[in-house]
Formats: sequence, C-alpha cells, structure tokens
Amino acid sequence: MANRNFTLVIHGGAGAILKSKMTPELEQQYRDGLQQALAAGFDILKKGGIAVDAVQRAINIMEDSPLFNAGKGAVFTHEGKHEQDACIMDGRTLECGSVAGIRRIKRPINLARLVMDKSPHVLLGGEGAETFAVEHGFELVDDDYFHTERRRQQLQVAIEKEAAKDDPSGDNQFLSEDTRHGTVGAVALDRDGNLAAATSSGGMTNKRFGRIGDSALIGAGTYANNKTCAVSTTGHGEYFMRTVLAYDLSALMEYSGLSLRDAADKVVNGTFTELGGTGGLIALDAEGNIAMPFNCEGMYRGWQSHDKGPTVAIYKDDNSE
Ligand code: ASP
Repeated sequence: MANRNFTLVIHGGAGAILKSKMTPELEQQYRDGLQQALAAGFDILKKGGIAVDAVQRAINIMEDSPLFNAGKGAVFTHEGKHEQDACIMDGRTLECGSVAGIRRIKRPINLARLVMDKSPHVLLGGEGAETFAVEHGFELVDDDYFHTERRRQQLQVAIEKEAAKDDPSGDNQFLSEDTRHGTVGAVALDRDGNLAAATSSGGMTNKRFGRIGDSALIGAGTYANNKTCAVSTTGHGEYFMRTVLAYDLSALMEYSGLSLRDAADKVVNGTFTELGGTGGLIALDAEGNIAMPFNCEGMYRGWQSHDKGPTVAIYKDDNSE
C-alpha cells in the first residue's frame, strides 16, 4: 500500500543566526527561498516521485540562490576561489555519490548524483570529478559565476580577523560561526517508503590547502538507510567528521533501538557538543517522524508532509516540530 506519510525536510545552514543581526528584508528572502525549495521538492513526492529526486530538486533551488552557501552563493576560499562539496544517498539501496573540492560545477549535487548513478565509485575529487562531469555532458562555469559581494566581504572580514590574530585558540575558531551559514541539505520519504538524504556546501569561508568538509563525506554529513533514517548535517564540519555523526544517528536507531528524536538529540548534544562542535541536523525516519536539533542560535529549516506544513523556521524559538 502506498505510504501516506511522504515528507520532505530541508535546511539552509546553521550557526550564529541572530534576529538582532538580521534585517526584515533579508529574513523574508531566506523564508521565501526555503519555501520555494520545499515546494519544488514536495511537488515531486506528491506526484509519486522518488525520494532521491525530491532531495536533489530541493537542493537545486537553494544552489541557484545567492543566499545559501552552495552553488551560486558558495563562500570564498582563502585564495578568493570557490571549492564545493556535495553528497547524496539512497536509503533503499545504500547507494551513494559524492564530490569534493569541485570548482566549476553550477549545481554540485547533480554531479554527486551522477557519481551515484553512473560511476562504480562513491567519492570523486577536484579535477577528476570535473572531467567525469564533462564526459557526461555537464557544462563547466567560470569561477565568476559564484562571485557574490556578500561572500566577498565575509572573506575580507575573515582575513582581517586572522591577520589581527583575533583567534587566540589558533585553530580558526572564528571560521566556525560568523562566516559560514547556508550549507543546504534535504531529507525525504517518498510514497513507496524510501528515504534519501543530500547535502551541498561551499564549505567554510577562508578555507585553504584543499580543505574538504563533512558535506562531501557519507556518514559524516549525510546518511540514509530505509531501516533507520535519513540525515543531513550543517555546522562546523570537522566535528561532524570526528564523530561520524550522521551514521552514528542511524546506528543508534539500528543497534540500540532509539527513536529518531532521542538518537538525534543524543548525537547533537553528546560528543559533538562536548568537543566544541556547533551546528545541527535534519533527520527523518521511515514513519515520517522528523527531528531538527541544533546547538547554536539558529538553523534555516523547513518541512512539509501530507498533513503538516509547509513550515519554515530560522531561530530557536520559531515554530518547531
Ligand atoms: N558543514 C560545512 C563544512 O564544514 C559548513 C556548514 O554546514 O556551514 O564544510
């Protein structure tokens, strides 16, 4: 029998998102952007489409927007370039695809999908990934396509702070809050009861040395398994990698029998937070239960199911599930 609980949950990044620092206009733009992504992805589920297509579609809308740190609005590297990470996973088969450090692909999640569908590999990096893309008919864009004034200013601030040694910890902590919002992610449950997850990110402002984030790594930033849940994370990637957080959530459900919500709270508020990680996640199980915990001021998020929403939220005290 067709599953009636088809559901889509999206995020557009988490961090020090404070109402006091937001103009009403910018807040409205974010809410509209989230609504559009939600509507496009949910339409696929409503029409009986598959979860993998729904998450990809929702992410494409956010990748095309200058607001989010993915695709068009990707943050700048230290050298003033853009290097993006993305991954996608199908909970029905555990097939997945990801790309790391790619420079000239407009919608990185589409290349991650191509890796999943058309290559025997899981993760392709840098130039090789782009050669693979071109062989499959992808268009490469110039770096200029990703230039936005807002992100350029964020790089400037990050470089100035670094030069002023405004970071006594010496580990670029300032990168973790003010200058990285807007990684995008989506999790979906379709009418056939299949789960999927996807994440796309420009990474962190001022990153260098080919730094790769959790958004490229299956198990850290993204995971989906029909037996448990679909997860997409956003925040300080190094901590999601060190705690293999997305997979940890799934494993807590599979091996310890925790509910989605208990497992999600545990992974975000446990070792991840104790180590100093900031950020959050969206997660969805095969019954359509949703969890969206985060340990920072805000997370751009939205959700819709056959009987709930569409709803979007930004701050801690916004509408919550
Ligand atoms: N998790 C991303 C990274 O570390 C950044 C973010 O979600 O804001 O690359």
